[in-house]
Amino acid sequence: MAARIIDGKAIAAEVRADVAERVRARIEAGESRPHLTAILVGEDPASHTYVRNKRIACDEVGMSSDTRLLPAETSQAELLDIIRELNERPEVSGILVQTPLPPHMDEPAVMTALNPDKDVDGLHPMSLGRLVQGEPVMVPCTPAGVQEMLLRSGYDPAGKRVVIVGRSMLVGKPLALLLGNKARGGNATVTLAHTGTVDLPSVTREAEILVVAAGRPNVVTANMVRPGAVVIDVGTNRIDAPERKSGSRLVGDVDFEGVSQVAAAISPVPGGVGPMTIAMLLANTLKAAGG
Ligand code: NAP
Repeated sequence: MAARIIDGKAIAAEVRADVAERVRARIEAGESRPHLTAILVGEDPASHTYVRNKRIACDEVGMSSDTRLLPAETSQAELLDIIRELNERPEVSGILVQTPLPPHMDEPAVMTALNPDKDVDGLHPMSLGRLVQGEPVMVPCTPAGVQEMLLRSGYDPAGKRVVIVGRSMLVGKPLALLLGNKARGGNATVTLAHTGTVDLPSVTREAEILVVAAGRPNVVTANMVRPGAVVIDVGTNRIDAPERKSGSRLVGDVDFEGVSQVAAAISPVPGGVGPMTIAMLLANTLKAAGG
């Protein structure tokens, strides 16, 4: 039987509509308009596309935004000065430093320079520490998006066996904390798998909810999925597609065709976790503004 498709685009539109309504109510009450400042260092085309999409998303929910475009040769000291200046500006609610940064920069040091109250990506050590303590304030956008997607599609992780493939600081680790915490949307029994996991298929077959964030196509195939599982594919991989005009297409980490014959529900790529990540960035920016 073919799995139900978890439509991230539609769920993200619901989240954005909620955010837009709350922004409207704030402004009607005479409060400030939430403002996101993105910092983009260098010319990476994918990063430029991401930042442009985030700005469009801000416009759509009634938030203002701007982008600081910095040349690739900007020094780390110069970047830190800009962050300190933005930290102090009351009209800037949230600051987003688009990654990857150029290789001469120390990413964790840059994230640590952010005012944690404006850390809308949730990657400041303070934000991650609050998540470890079970009292999150700013949750990293992709893990928050996966959790929201599960809840809004009726798959509450509470009491479920969850396996996450991938342990990055951006996705796997914070998601394991979020789904394992004693809180709404948590209370799952979580296993974090990675390249050191022995016999990955036997581990993934345990999962009632399987989240894959490995960054490689076809890391999870049908034989690795428990019948009736819910599968969330975080991966975004660009592969050659000579039949397309662009010459390439986007795929996830999961063999979508095969796995959708076994799973009860599956999120597609594109149109799954990607739109949720942007929606949660907007939710975090609203939170940073105090709303
Ligand atoms: P990452 O930093 O490269 O981490 C990948 C993780 O997967 C690592 O922990 C690695 O294990 C593990 N892994 C890789 N291959 C594996 C395998 N064959 N078996 C088991 N574990 C394996 O990647 P990331 O930043 O977390 O991103 C993961 C994917 O999600 C990428 O495709 C990225 O583009 C995508 N992504 C999408 C969004 C979105 O909004 N849609 C947002 C963020 C990321 P080790 O630790 O042992 O090396």
